Amino acid sequence: MSNVTIDNITHIYGSGESSVTALEDISFAVNDSEFVSLLGPSGCGKSTLLYITAGFIQPTAGDVRVAGTPINGPGTDRGVVFQEYALFPWKTVLGNVKFGLDHATDKTDTESVARQHIKQVGLEGFEDKYPKELSGGMKQRVATARTLAYDPDILLMDEPFGSLDAQTREILQDELLKTAAKTQKTILFVTHSIDEAVYLSDRIVILSSHPGQKKEIIDVNIDRNQSRREILASDEFEKKSAMARDAVQEEIAAANQTPT
Ligand code: ADP
Ligand code: MG
Repeated sequence: MSNVTIDNITHIYGSGESSVTALEDISFAVNDSEFVSLLGPSGCGKSTLLYITAGFIQPTAGDVRVAGTPINGPGTDRGVVFQEYALFPWKTVLGNVKFGLDHATDKTDTESVARQHIKQVGLEGFEDKYPKELSGGMKQRVATARTLAYDPDILLMDEPFGSLDAQTREILQDELLKTAAKTQKTILFVTHSIDEAVYLSDRIVILSSHPGQKKEIIDVNIDRNQSRREILASDEFEKKSAMARDAVQEEIAAANQTPT
């Protein structure tokens, strides 16, 4: 089991007059093998909530549980993929992916496991290249391979396709959906793109702007046997995109009215 429970999370950065309440009393769950997106305007606390779930940030109040057990810092049950890839520039593709396996419990043959994951993300032949020699899409593939190599049950992804061109982004979205279906990972995915959230998710948690609170949860019931084109043309896609867009726009409007 790898369900994630976010329970009454509040997070305040700093203290006194300069403190910032990033998240206020957020609760929701991500079920086993479910794909949930966190959607909301910039600054609403999406990354903060993801990093609390990763165990990088200790929340001011509340807790995160994995399969019922409170987390106590980072763990190999949760793999994080960052927007900026976070690759080591001085390590090759193989070196970067093998690094993920330094945390693995079973250290036999990490090189062949790493090579296998590099192949799975379509980078066979690029093992000895350095990050600077790769395109953004390829770097994101390396970052994904590095995380998948140690086989965490839960993937935590922070706008992983945010800086890619539209076409690469679509390809990687579809690869992620395939991986999700094949591996049954539990996924919490941060995005500020409404279309991306609806296209990928089983459910979307929309956060209100500053401080981030849970505004709305939208269930998405897309038949995943359809092509991208069919999905984008479906009534369900249109309906859920409109719902999400209304909710997010309301928040952006509210944020713009907040006196500073
Ligand atoms: P998002 O990922 O949705 O854009 P963040 O989680 O990065 O939002 O930030 C939420 C709020 O917390 C923002 O107002 C941001 O300025 C603030 N914040 C984020 N990190 C810090 C930090 N280390 N110190 C102080 N404030 C921070
Ligand atoms: Mg962010």
